Amino acid sequence: MLPVAKIREDFPILSTKIDGRPLIYLDNAATMQVPLCVLERLRSHYLHDNANIHRGIYTLSERSTQAYEDARITVRDFLGADSKEEIVFTQGATDSINMAADGLRETLHINDMIVITELEHHSNFLPWQRLCHRTGATFAIIPCPDGMPDMEAYKKILSQNPKLVAVTQVSNLTGTVMPLGEMTRLAHEAGAVIFVDGAQGIRHCDTHVSAEDYDFYCFSGHKIMGPAGIGVLYGKRRLLEMLKPSRLGGGMVGTVTGQDFTEAPLPYRLEAGTPNYPGAIALAEAIRYIDRLGRKAIADYENMLVDYAVEKLSEVAGLHVLGHPVNRAGVVSFVLDTMHPYDAASILDKLGVAIRSGTHCAQPALQRFGVTAALRLSPAFYNTRAEIDEACLAIRQTQDLMSRWIKK
Ligand code: PMP
Repeated sequence: MLPVAKIREDFPILSTKIDGRPLIYLDNAATMQVPLCVLERLRSHYLHDNANIHRGIYTLSERSTQAYEDARITVRDFLGADSKEEIVFTQGATDSINMAADGLRETLHINDMIVITELEHHSNFLPWQRLCHRTGATFAIIPCPDGMPDMEAYKKILSQNPKLVAVTQVSNLTGTVMPLGEMTRLAHEAGAVIFVDGAQGIRHCDTHVSAEDYDFYCFSGHKIMGPAGIGVLYGKRRLLEMLKPSRLGGGMVGTVTGQDFTEAPLPYRLEAGTPNYPGAIALAEAIRYIDRLGRKAIADYENMLVDYAVEKLSEVAGLHVLGHPVNRAGVVSFVLDTMHPYDAASILDKLGVAIRSGTHCAQPALQRFGVTAALRLSPAFYNTRAEIDEACLAIRQTQDLMSRWIKK
């Protein structure tokens, strides 16, 4: 079992008071709080080692470059990738997906097809939709009734030999852990490339991109306690080689003449400009923190918390959980009979409870459930069952308050 009380000392923000009440932070699917060791790593980099990377041959630049390249190795090992050249640092999951979709613009043609699921976050939806619009390729969507992909529909779509399947590892709306083993195998049998959006999954699934045979994988650092503005695009080497760099500039070239330029080797050809090297260095520290706690211990504890949240929320009258996935990780979304999610979330905030409300950047997924907005509770390993109890009590109090207003 994780020493949660001790762990909470690593996150001073968790002791914040909101209107005099203890903060109950249950919006970890949006972003995680950052532990002291990660903040300290950033501070010490700026205090002792900071210089632009890959630019100078003086000591500070070499130290900074070394720390950045070491971070790449840490990420490679964390993801189970074969080589560090397959790890591209980006600004986040959204940036990674855009880099891949835009990079394939000359590879996709009018008779091709791209497949996504109905549960995708807009970030793993719009770049592929636009790529299809631009190239004339077909954009196919796998339906996900009750939060599970319809595998028969998927097989039918695959029989049309799509070029690429883009799918989330874990849905940020329903918490569905996608059956990626089977989806990847079927995609490959049909000759398609699989792109996995790991923005939510990275926190919950013990991911080994090479063993699991993912062609592309991406995530954002801030979802695993790194700073915002750093992310990763993993791709099998031959596929990353196929991507046309969307951004040109310093750092991504070999030679430049008045007429043309040659590209630097991977991963640099996809990392134009000064990268967010402090972010990458801090992300590596966050990964070490995860490794110290143990990925399995974190997953077991978070699974227990999310199951507990589903159980407790289901006991609240007038509350409806969205989706009943076979395997759930990290999040539970719901709607209330008598209140709009925005109203509920702002009252909950006054009670110290921070949960997400709105469309969750997943409008097609919400449409499947016949709603336009929802509330979402997403615990992390520094949360407790007592906080879930408090959140459910606060939801009941919010409902009571609203029904008294309505009666007046
Ligand atoms: N995909 C999923 C499933 C997500 O949950 C998110 C973040 N909410 C993203 C992509 C985009 O991540 P970011 O905003 O960090 O780029």
